[in-house]
Parts: sequence; structure tokens; C-alpha cells
Amino acid sequence: MNLDKAVRIDEDNVAIKRVKEMCINCGRCKTICEDIVGIHYDEKCKEAVCLHCGECILNCPVGALVPKYDYRKILDYLHDTEKIVTISIAPAVRSSIGEGFGLEPGTFLEKQLVGALKDVGFDYVFDVTFGADMTVMEEASELVDRLKTKKGLPMFTSCCPSWVKYLEIYHPTIKEHLSTVKSPIGIQSSVLNTYFLKMMNIPKEKLVNVVVVPCTAKKFEIRRTELGMDFAITTSELVLLLKESKIDLTKAREEEFSALLGKGSGSGVIFGRSGGVMEATLRCANYLLTGKDKITSFLTLEENQKSDKIKKAIVNIGSFTLRVASVRGMIGVEEILKDLKDYDFIEVMNCKEGCVSGGGQVLTAISKQDEINLARAKALELDDLNSKIRFCYKNPDVINIYKTYFNYPNSPKAKKLLHTNFKDRSSILREKSL
Ligand code: SF4
Ligand code: SF4
Ligand code: SF4
Repeated sequence: MNLDKAVRIDEDNVAIKRVKEMCINCGRCKTICEDIVGIHYDEKCKEAVCLHCGECILNCPVGALVPKYDYRKILDYLHDTEKIVTISIAPAVRSSIGEGFGLEPGTFLEKQLVGALKDVGFDYVFDVTFGADMTVMEEASELVDRLKTKKGLPMFTSCCPSWVKYLEIYHPTIKEHLSTVKSPIGIQSSVLNTYFLKMMNIPKEKLVNVVVVPCTAKKFEIRRTELGMDFAITTSELVLLLKESKIDLTKAREEEFSALLGKGSGSGVIFGRSGGVMEATLRCANYLLTGKDKITSFLTLEENQKSDKIKKAIVNIGSFTLRVASVRGMIGVEEILKDLKDYDFIEVMNCKEGCVSGGGQVLTAISKQDEINLARAKALELDDLNSKIRFCYKNPDVINIYKTYFNYPNSPKAKKLLHTNFKDRSSILREKSL
């Protein structure tokens, strides 16, 4: 069959695979890619560039699009007694993985997941909310610095790899506006490959680091050379890994995350929903500028739901009045780029509800996606509300790692290990239009 209506997924796409025999050429994936992700399928670029976001996977009615699976390679490492294998769990995974075992969307399974992964044989099970807290510490400090010097404003969040790739391809001239802080999994990886190795006296060649994410684009992100994460597997892959290991998550024992990197605060947990990175960063920036704790509630879940593509607000912090915006889905990006001077801080998430609705999550009925994503986001919101610690700067593990290793946010050591830089990838478009 001529598959001319489908999105083009090249053989070397690191995140997505199309099973040609299953494709019915319905064209839904391409419509989603154009209308929801906002990819340019115009004459000029001939072939659109894939951002690896996985929105097409979630919307293919016959399951002909799937993540590129890496989980079997990880099972091999788990059987290798010479290797020490860590796994870190991203925030949005814990409120959706239960769906793969027949549980209701939004069932919060953090401790059961840790127990299951320890039973599978992972040597250490860590929480990416720790990396998220570190990202916030660095990013809030960077924001405060940019506000004080009036340079590099507006600052964009940079933790969504699909958004970062989009900017690098279509708008490289404004890449200085991206926060240079690594994403939570990037920071988690840096901490594992430096601080953790040193504390545990583990030779570098023995360590294998895995992260489980709701996001297919993280498979692209970990290939950025400085990242140092060995594997990114999706929530849906983890379901397969657990089932092949004969683990029933509904019956798993409850366990705490492995010590040393510890757990994150409520700020780290809300990274998994749209507006969460903005909210967490503003909480920390407020403390840096006023010395006070404040839940800014810039984007409560209810307010967030009312907005369409872009949510805007004015937030007063100390002597600064910040014009902030949260772009919910890549389709809102071009609109906001027209008026950059009207903002100081902008969060961009490729997926509308943030990572809870990522392309690596357990598949759901297309008609129920909104309802299910909301239930997943609510579970994270509730965990933040009930957290004993809701501010990253009060997380004792974060305080400890700065005291003993990184000194202070944006210190020379932190800049070297926890920050990154971005490329001009616009030549991809010229290559495609040849
Ligand atoms: S949505 Fe699925 S079946 Fe339809 S064209 Fe795309 S890959 Fe093929
Ligand atoms: S992964 Fe995202 S950008 Fe790539 S084809 Fe699918 S929807 Fe389009
Ligand atoms: S919003 Fe989250 S899940 Fe979606 S592409 Fe970005 S990082 Fe991945």
C-alpha cells in the first residue's frame, strides 16, 4: 500500500518506529503532527523534521506507531553480574503506569514501583524528582540573574527535548533565550556519573544508568553527547519489562527510593504536568529574592485547564514584576514568538498537559485522552499538596549535595556539570529541501 498520508518516520529515527504492515494510511498521525505539534509540512522544507514527541503514537488508531524499544538490552545488563544498574523514575510515570496493569488512570504507585524495580534486579532505584529539584535550584538562580542584569530575557524553559529541538531547527537565532540548565534527567545523570560514583567508590565502567520516562523524545535527548545517560525507556516499555519479568505491579511490595540521591520535593513532582516547571521555578526564585516561602499558584490545575494554547500571568516577586507564560503544546509556540518582548519567563511543553500526556505513556482510548491526562495530572498535584517538603531549597538531600559537592547554584562546578549549550540545527532544513 502507498503510505503517503502517514508521517514519515525514517529508519534512523531514534525514538519512533512505524510498523508498515499495520498502517492503514488513514493520515491521522500527519494531521496530529501538523495541527497539534505544529510541524511545518510546507513546500519549503519538503519533509518535516520529527521532534520525537510521540503524539502520533498516541493517536494512531491501529497501533502502527510504537516507541523504539530498548528494554531488552536493559534485561541483559541486569543479568550481567559485573554491572551496577541504576534506574531513575520520572515524575509523570508514577501516576500512569498502573493503567498498564488494569488500574484506574491517576492511581499513584510510587512505592510499589520502587519495590517492583528492586525485585526485577535493579541495584539502585532513584527518583528523577531529585534531579528536578536540582534543575529548579539552578534555573531559578539563572532567572534571578537574568532579571537583575536584564540580559537574556525572556528566559525559556529547556527541559522538553522536543521544544529544544524545534527551536534549534526553526529559530536558532534565539537559542540564548533557553535556560542553559540541563533537564532533570540530564542533571540526574551528571550527579550519578560524578557524585554518586565518588561516594560509592564505583568504577565508571561498571555503571549503567537507565531512566524511565513518559516521553519518547528523551531517547533523542540522551544522545546529546554531554548527557551520559545510557538508556531512556518509556512508561509503556517499562510495563513490558515488568510483565516479561513476571512482576504484577498491583501486587508489588512497597519500598522507598534508594538513599544518597533521595527524593524530591513537591516542586519536583509537579514537573510532570503543564505549568509545573514554571510554578516550581517561581517558588524558588521568590525565596531567592525575598527569603520567604510562597506557593505562587501561578497555574493551578483548574486555571490551567481553562486555558487553550497559552496561559499568561503577571507575578510579583520582590521588586520584580514578571510577565510569564506557559505554552501548552507546541502549536502555541509561533504565536508567542511574535511578541517575545512582552514576556520575562516562558515555559514550553510539547505535550498539552505536559509530560503526563507524553508519547511514551501507556496507550489509552483516543476519545478518553483528555480525561485520563487530567486524572494523571491531578495525582501529581495531590502529591505536591500532601508533600512535607514543597520547596526544592528545603529538600535535605539537595541542601547536602550543594554543601558537599556543588557549593552553590550556578557555581563554577555546577555550571560545568549541570548546564549545557544548544546547537544551530537549521541546516537540517536546507538538507531536506535539496
Ligand atoms: S495514524 Fe497509524 S494507521 Fe493512520 S496513517 Fe498514521 S501510522 Fe498509519
Ligand atoms: S513524533 Fe511528533 S514530530 Fe515526530 S512525526 Fe510523530 S507527531 Fe510528528
Ligand atoms: S512535554 Fe514532556 S513528554 Fe512531551 S515531549 Fe516534552 S518532555 Fe516529552
